[in-house]
Amino acid sequence: MTKDQTAYKMYIDGRFVDGDSGTRDVINPADGKPFASVPEASADQTRQAIAAARKAQRAWGLKSPLERAGVMKRIAAAIRKNHARLAEIVVREQGKPINEAMGEVGGAAEFFDYFAEFARRIQGEILPSDFAGEQIWIQRVPVGVVGAIIPWNYPSALVSRKVAPALIAGDTIVLKPHEDTPLSALELARIFAEAEVPAGVVNIVTGRGETVGEVLCTEPGVDLITMTGSVPTGKRIMANASRNLTPVSLELGGKAPFIVLEDADIDLAVRSAATSRYMNCGQVCICNERTLVHRSVYDRFVEGFVEFSKSLMVGDPMRTTTDIGPKVSLEELEKVEGVVAEAVSGGARMALVGGRPKTPPVEGGYWLTPTVLTGVTADMPIMTREIFGPVVPIMPFDTFEEAVEITNASRYGLSAYLFTNDLGRVMNAVNDVSFGEIYVNRIGPEALQGYHVGFRESGLGGDDGSHGLESYLRKKTVYVNYSGGATVPLMPYGR
Ligand code: NAD
Repeated sequence: MTKDQTAYKMYIDGRFVDGDSGTRDVINPADGKPFASVPEASADQTRQAIAAARKAQRAWGLKSPLERAGVMKRIAAAIRKNHARLAEIVVREQGKPINEAMGEVGGAAEFFDYFAEFARRIQGEILPSDFAGEQIWIQRVPVGVVGAIIPWNYPSALVSRKVAPALIAGDTIVLKPHEDTPLSALELARIFAEAEVPAGVVNIVTGRGETVGEVLCTEPGVDLITMTGSVPTGKRIMANASRNLTPVSLELGGKAPFIVLEDADIDLAVRSAATSRYMNCGQVCICNERTLVHRSVYDRFVEGFVEFSKSLMVGDPMRTTTDIGPKVSLEELEKVEGVVAEAVSGGARMALVGGRPKTPPVEGGYWLTPTVLTGVTADMPIMTREIFGPVVPIMPFDTFEEAVEITNASRYGLSAYLFTNDLGRVMNAVNDVSFGEIYVNRIGPEALQGYHVGFRESGLGGDDGSHGLESYLRKKTVYVNYSGGATVPLMPYGR
């Protein structure tokens, strides 16, 4: 660490502490230079955080939901007060353009306001008993201690997406940010402290997936694992969690098809398909990953798409005029380069040649300009594996049925896009497209009140809305005999 770097501490049991395993540098992807350092937690410190969350849970869960909502509204207000500063931190550690980062931090505040609205809405059920003098009810209760693990692509909003439902449910939480982007979570920890969240209710532990993450998934003191990230890590987490039968909620990767039918508004489809591909430098699980265009409008679409792609400004993400910032890391950049090289050697053609710019916007950054590929077939790896970068394969199809078949022949099943004005086709797609989210004539982001859920290997469980909140609660059935023993029989020895 150099003297110019800001040294952060992590947040356990209401205290800001150093890591037992040293520190880790945080790199700015726009110039490749370290600018901050964060603690590297040990396995023992992770266990301490779990113990703190356990200790705090009873009192937090017994507060009235309205009281918990009050704390959450203070968090939302504090995020808004620090909006611009938090957005700049997102840009510096992750690289998305400042306009997008402002949107992300706005979303981070909204999660708290939105889930605070559930204070008067978490309800139970009263059931008819078979006996006079007995009351039976089902009550929703906190799940307990939540272990949350998040990726690098939305380092601020994904903290709120996990913490806000946990808080309103009466749970406490230990959250592990990604190694590359820990600062937004640690900045939010300061906000949790400022909003007087009681000690131990939210804990932010920074460190390796193989250390902090594995402990969260294998300790019996954790009652729910909620993870957003890649499919291989999701599978490993599920296998580890099975040791204690800890429930998991997994939001994993995607390979979103973007289907453009012959009657679609082509200009709208071009702008939408490109925006959906290039936002956050293509690093979003719901990004347009494979564009399928009806053959009759294919040439026009590709021409428009290439023109639009060329018009985008790749540059310093701190500037409001920038459309595409750097990739998050060199490793991620090289992965994308590998995918493109493999596609080209497999026969794909470059309708727009992208890659590392000859004159980088800032020296040392992880820059990639857009690449558009044609001449692809449905079975090529570029059409089946997640790309996660500013690279678009565009493939023609002849019939709607063929487009649906290609769409569904994927191990992923998160988001799908359809552009058409034919209502019949829309309804057919709703019936036949086997994906958790279908967007018609619009692109993301997903709504707070929706249910963000992937089919097949894109996940298990889901986030957002009332259905997402269900993961953070469990149901308890209560039988109360108030007949004095007169009418409720003692089965099976009724004497
Ligand atoms: P990743 O799987 O590499 O890492 C995710 C998190 O898991 C990190 O915090 C990492 O440290 C942790 N981890 C790693 N090994 C672990 C282990 N053995 N036990 C426990 N935790 C461990 O994913 P990434 O590269 O950070 O993120 C990109 C992926 O996330 C993409 O596939 C993207 O599609 C997906 N994603 C999905 C959604 C969604 O809502 N479905 C949203 C954003 C990103």
